[in-house]
Amino acid sequence: MARMITEPAREIPIVAEADVVVAGGGPGGLPAAIAAARHGASVILIERYGFLGGLATAGLVAPILGHTTSRGTRPIVEGLLKEFTERMHTLGGAPTWEEACQEWGIRFDAEAFKYVADEMVREANVQLLLHTLVTDVIVEGGRVKGLIIENKGGRQAVLGKVIIDATGDADVAFRASAPMRQGRDFDGRVQSMGSFFHLGGVSDLSEQRRAEAVEKVRRAMEEGELRFYNPNFANVNTIRHGFFSPNMTRWAGNPLSARDLTRAEMEVRREVWRLLRFLQENVPGFERAYIHSTSPQVGVRESRQIVGDYTLTGDDVRHGRKFEDAVARGSWWIDIHCPFGLTYPVHLCTIECPRREKCPFWAAEHDKSMFHREDLYPPEDDWYDIPYRCLVPQKIEGVLVSGRCISATHEGMAGARVMGTCMAIGQAAGTAASLAVRQGIQPRAVDVAELRRTLRGDGALV
Ligand SMILES: Cc1cc2nc3c(=O)[nH]c(=O)nc-3n(C[C@H](O)[C@H](O)[C@H](O)COP(=O)(O)OP(=O)(O)OC[C@H]3O[C@@H](n4cnc5c(N)ncnc54)[C@H](O)[C@@H]3O)c2cc1C
Repeated sequence: MARMITEPAREIPIVAEADVVVAGGGPGGLPAAIAAARHGASVILIERYGFLGGLATAGLVAPILGHTTSRGTRPIVEGLLKEFTERMHTLGGAPTWEEACQEWGIRFDAEAFKYVADEMVREANVQLLLHTLVTDVIVEGGRVKGLIIENKGGRQAVLGKVIIDATGDADVAFRASAPMRQGRDFDGRVQSMGSFFHLGGVSDLSEQRRAEAVEKVRRAMEEGELRFYNPNFANVNTIRHGFFSPNMTRWAGNPLSARDLTRAEMEVRREVWRLLRFLQENVPGFERAYIHSTSPQVGVRESRQIVGDYTLTGDDVRHGRKFEDAVARGSWWIDIHCPFGLTYPVHLCTIECPRREKCPFWAAEHDKSMFHREDLYPPEDDWYDIPYRCLVPQKIEGVLVSGRCISATHEGMAGARVMGTCMAIGQAAGTAASLAVRQGIQPRAVDVAELRRTLRGDGALV
């Protein structure tokens, strides 16, 4: 039995009140706040860090995926994502929209993302509260009417007519006791965590030298000396070319456990420093390599999902399913990172995973066609819709959910979790919240045909 103490009841100040309160300023929350404010709602955006962007900045995650059709170049998300890209472009922080559509993702500079986010939030008159953690909800009669927040000023309350939960982990809906699901149906395990990092001091290497270096890393992985899920440390995922920005680390655990998060942070950093030492000692040209930066937080791919009136599934992704209440589009594939944190080569795996034969990555090791497994992708040059019902949690009122924690299965969210899709969902959530406020109705009752018309009027592709 855990030892317990009783926390005494106390009065706390109501420090702010708005039509729409958005918890979390990542790809799911930022566009939601901007869209709601542009439609005339008063908006408060609450973010625990000192900057906006979520994993786009705090995770150094890049590029923004899901902006075009599956393996195609036709845009499927425009609206705020396109505007955001164009504004980063004017700062030299992203390609033009047209160029980005020719690439598999939108490469960008995390500092440009932060600055554009600040400017767009400022211009829309969103009240921004940084360095503030949402810790609880205020519920009356089954309706969430506000949030409890904590910051250096202590414990306070913020009230709102519609609350948008864009915390990634569905913190608000969870605190309001909305039904939740998590991970794989059969064991609840979620995708492994991982971090991007930037590796500097090697910019003048030739293509051939880089290829040799990657091959050395691959061999070290095969021998178990290094532990990554791919050897491509020389990848450049951002718009900048002065350093590498690989996505190669993986650590399994429960991202809702501070102990597991702590372990993940430390283990991933250890792997990154192991790689650095390996490169310095074994690869000519890397003697002066250094860790330019590790991300401020370990990246969480999957945690809680709300249960909405519809749950996006792997089949929806595979078949490029369309819905009458579509409010956003996704095209990313069922991209699952082993919930055991398994790293390549798979044959070193000693984990007794009950689904090993069905694991796409295990299978891929045998048929060597990991990135061409048709049954994990939407049809070519196509997309799947995100229905509005995935944003509306069951059993509670006053809340919409945006970003990766929408109602989706383990497979469904594996596609919909990427940042381009989250930004499209965010624009839809914010626009829906503004309609609900204007009409004095619950988000559940929003006329989706009107929502879709409004989104189209704002340049979104639905
Ligand atoms: C290792 C890794 C690699 C990835 N690679 C790619 C990629 O290449 N391309 C791509 O498009 N996507 C990629 N993704 C997925 C993508 O980054 C995320 O799914 C996406 O950022 C989710 O957006 P979100 O807004 O829902 O959540 P987040 O980006 O996590 O944002 C949530 C925000 O809410 C804040 N927050 C959370 N809880 C609270 C609270 N209680 N109070 C106040 N604030 C709170 C956080 O600080 C954060 O700013 C990757 C993810 C990982 C982990």
